[in-house]
Amino acid sequence: MLKIRLLWSLIVIAMLIGVPLSGCGGQASPPADTATDKLLVAASIIPLADFTRQVGGDRVQVELLVPPGASPHTYELTPAQLQVLSKARVLVLNDVGLEFWADDAVSAANNPDLIVVDTSQGLTILGGDAGESSGNPHIWLDPINAIHQVEKIRDALIQADPDGAEVYRANAERYIGELKALDQEIRNRVATFSSKKFIAFHPAWVYFAQRYGLEQAAVIETTPGKEPSPAEIAEIVKTARAIGAKAIFAEPQFSPKAAEVIAAESGAEVLFLNPLGEPPDFSYLDTMRYNVGEMEKALK
Ligand SMILES: [Zn+2]
Repeated sequence: MLKIRLLWSLIVIAMLIGVPLSGCGGQASPPADTATDKLLVAASIIPLADFTRQVGGDRVQVELLVPPGASPHTYELTPAQLQVLSKARVLVLNDVGLEFWADDAVSAANNPDLIVVDTSQGLTILGGDAGESSGNPHIWLDPINAIHQVEKIRDALIQADPDGAEVYRANAERYIGELKALDQEIRNRVATFSSKKFIAFHPAWVYFAQRYGLEQAAVIETTPGKEPSPAEIAEIVKTARAIGAKAIFAEPQFSPKAAEVIAAESGAEVLFLNPLGEPPDFSYLDTMRYNVGEMEKALK
């Protein structure tokens, strides 16, 4: 509690004296010019950046690579972000092919001190759709998988900064407790759903569905960013009618046009799920609660 209050005081002071705060603005923040004694950690996507902040606390400076509003399936790193990798001590990756740029970026960074963490290592990977030869990458949307990713991040931070080991362990333990509570809350809420079948925008929810006994009945874009053909749309409309879908899910990182067409044709409404982060604070816990709330509207 004291730590949270202290953090807020620091944020307020920073705002008063006009220190720019890095973090969740629209753009990825540029690399800091001034030397900092914080551990510089780059994280590919919003949930991993949040996990890293939760575990690292004020010992780390986290640079988010794929900015809010962008899709990790299509986003290319900027030259400034490549520079961050040349200075960072840790690079937190989801892997399972999500960071298609990672190999090139790491070799371009030419940074022998960089510890690259594959947070998927050790998890059971589900099969992928078109364009996902390594498997389906959306592991973080299952909070039990997220716990595993948090543990991987904790271990990498300890490796990079052994002096902070106690802090990282304590922070990770506290946050894992919150993830377990989230898991229990989702179980309780999904138990009240009258329908278990949903139509997803892209195949982001298969781990979530498997964990909580839901079923992805159809997907609008099997390759994210590639809109469905009229024949595919007709097929999804058929499925939507067959399962009595009250809602078709779109996602803020992609155009909702195809979802709108399918919803209009099948008499459903369009709702938004957010696999990455929900403004304004982009916290994983809040985003997952938001998503379950949207699913409740469609499936309860
Ligand atoms: Zn995705």
